[in-house]
Amino acid sequence: MEYDDGERATAAAERARAFVSEVLVDVERDLRSETRLPRDRLADLHDRAREYDVFGPGVPEEYGGLGLTFREQVPVLEALGRTRIGPAAAHAPPWPDEAGLYALELAATDDQRERWLRPLAEGRLRSSLAMTEPIQGGGSDPTMVRTRARKEGDEWVLDGHKWWVTGGSDSDVVLTFARTDPDAGVHDAVSCLVVPVDAPGVEVHRDIAHMSDHVAGEPVHSEMTFDEVRVPEGNLLGEPNEGFAFFQRVLAHSRVWLGIEKTGTAQRALDVAKAYATEREAFGEPLSAKQALRFEVAEAETDLHAVRLMARDVARKITEGADPRTEVAMFKYRASNAVCDVVDRAVQACGANGIGEDLPLSDFYTNVRGYRIYDGADAVHKTVVARAAFDDADPEELEPLSRFGEPNTHPRESTDG
Ligand SMILES: Cc1cc2nc3c(=O)[nH]c(=O)nc-3n(C[C@H](O)[C@H](O)[C@H](O)COP(=O)(O)OP(=O)(O)OC[C@H]3O[C@@H](n4cnc5c(N)ncnc54)[C@H](O)[C@@H]3O)c2cc1C
Repeated sequence: MEYDDGERATAAAERARAFVSEVLVDVERDLRSETRLPRDRLADLHDRAREYDVFGPGVPEEYGGLGLTFREQVPVLEALGRTRIGPAAAHAPPWPDEAGLYALELAATDDQRERWLRPLAEGRLRSSLAMTEPIQGGGSDPTMVRTRARKEGDEWVLDGHKWWVTGGSDSDVVLTFARTDPDAGVHDAVSCLVVPVDAPGVEVHRDIAHMSDHVAGEPVHSEMTFDEVRVPEGNLLGEPNEGFAFFQRVLAHSRVWLGIEKTGTAQRALDVAKAYATEREAFGEPLSAKQALRFEVAEAETDLHAVRLMARDVARKITEGADPRTEVAMFKYRASNAVCDVVDRAVQACGANGIGEDLPLSDFYTNVRGYRIYDGADAVHKTVVARAAFDDADPEELEPLSRFGEPNTHPRESTDG
């Protein structure tokens, strides 16, 4: 399938594809017993990525990256997403550093750029992002945020409890969503504070055990508390009390970013399944000759093509500086359901091997499932789409229709006269 990605992006995607198949597929297999990517191992992979000229696709050139626009990154991220370790290995970088990088690019002061953006872009610093809180704090409904920060002199003092902080215990700084105005409506009361994870009062309680814990390269998801944590006022990112809209903008980027790389994961799952079905025989012919299986593959390919087109549309709009909220919501739930469905079909097509660990499919299966929940569950995004859909509901559309007890409007069936 051809897409209008431009020369620079197409060439970078080809290099990324070679990096994955020639280097990373073997590393992925080795890592299956280790899961976490230690920093020294990651640094080695970054060197290999530089050899393939794919290090930092979206990282500005001044920080050693390729400086591709978000739209241009689409085919590159998809190529890297063919293995779960691809984005980290090429310092794409994966969530949450992708979000950290984007947030800092949007809002960092000159001083903050040197302190955090440069080392993050160069792969020397790790970030995480903390919004979600245990019951009854912020989750699907971020207006329920309970974490608070108050200003004392030239410091912010932070108190709160967050969990599911991806990369939390491995990160150096956590971008924390906290209420900074106790009186204003929540949309005008939240700020983003950059908190060093080793600051006094920050405690990481645990990395939460979950279904894709064992997947190669899977980051940790941490539960952390903040008890009277003091950070200088220079650690406020963006404008005070404008953090709500700011986080939404950052998350919109992440939602699309994640869908693109998981499209690569789903496509590789499908490619493995097609290869298996071509080789495996049953009832006197290859499985790939069975129409039932061919239709499964046809539907999966069609779904992924649709997701790719949506990705390119929404990535272009974000690149152009727009805030395509409805399209992001449409993309997020459509892409997350499509990748889960495609990987599930691939598992089924491979029989027992689908859930065995010789193939990467079982890892993919457990990894993609979370994407229907994080960055906004399906229902949350459908709510956004439905709101926009009903915004332009027009009662006039019903005008030409007959009502109960009224004469037929179609002349042929008219009973008048
Ligand atoms: C792998 C993973 C990584 C994560 N990483 C991060 C991170 O780095 N930082 C961070 O802050 N958070 C992170 N999260 C948390 C994630 O963003 C939240 O789990 C998500 O926003 C949902 O919040 P919740 O878990 O509190 O679910 P709840 O708010 O309790 O919602 C539960 C379910 O209710 C349903 N629901 C919600 N709203 C509606 C509605 N309006 N109508 C109908 N049904 C509805 C949905 O099915 C939803 O799944 C991560 C989660 C996972 C699984």
